[in-house]
Amino acid sequence: MLEKTLSIIKPDAVKAGYSGKIIAILEENGFEIKAMKKIKLTKKQAEGFYIVHKDRPFYDSLTTFMSSGSIIVMVLEKENAIADYRELMGATDPSNAKPGTIRALYAKNIEENAVHGSDSKESTDFEIPYFFSALEIL
Ligand code: ATP
Ligand code: MG
Repeated sequence: MLEKTLSIIKPDAVKAGYSGKIIAILEENGFEIKAMKKIKLTKKQAEGFYIVHKDRPFYDSLTTFMSSGSIIVMVLEKENAIADYRELMGATDPSNAKPGTIRALYAKNIEENAVHGSDSKESTDFEIPYFFSALEIL
C-alpha cells in the first residue's frame, strides 16, 4: 500500500553536515519527498512531538537535544513506507544498527541518532499534521 511517513534529520546530523547524504539515501531507496522544511523547535514544541515518551527517563534530555539546533522534517511516500523507512534507519542504538543503515553510518549514540521515523500508522496520523498542513503536502 502506498503510504506516507514522517522523517526528521535530527540536530546532530544537520550540524555534522550529513543532511545531503541522508536525503540521497532516501531517494536511492525509492522514497519520494512530498514535503520538506528546515526548522528549529522550541523545547515546548519538542516536548509536544515526543509526548508519548513523557514518562521515560530520557524525555528531558531527548527534548533538550531535539531543540538544540536545526532539524529537517520531511513527509516521505513509498509502498510500505512506514516499515521500510524504519528498516533503512536501523536500530535506535547505532551500536546495534545493521551495517549500511542510516544510523549505522551517521548516528553518534543512542540519543543523538541522526534520524527519526514514525513507527506506525497511528504515529503518522499524529506526527505529519504536527509539522505540515494538508496544503503543504504535494
Ligand atoms: P525515533 O522515535 O526518534 O524514530 P526510535 O523509535 O528508534 O526513534 P524511541 O524508543 O521512539 O526510538 O525513542 C525516541 C528517541 O529517544 C530515540 O530516537 C533517541 O533519540 C531517544 N532515546 C531512546 N532511548 C534512549 C535512551 N535509552 N537514552 C537516551 N535517549 C534515548
Ligand atoms: Mg520512536
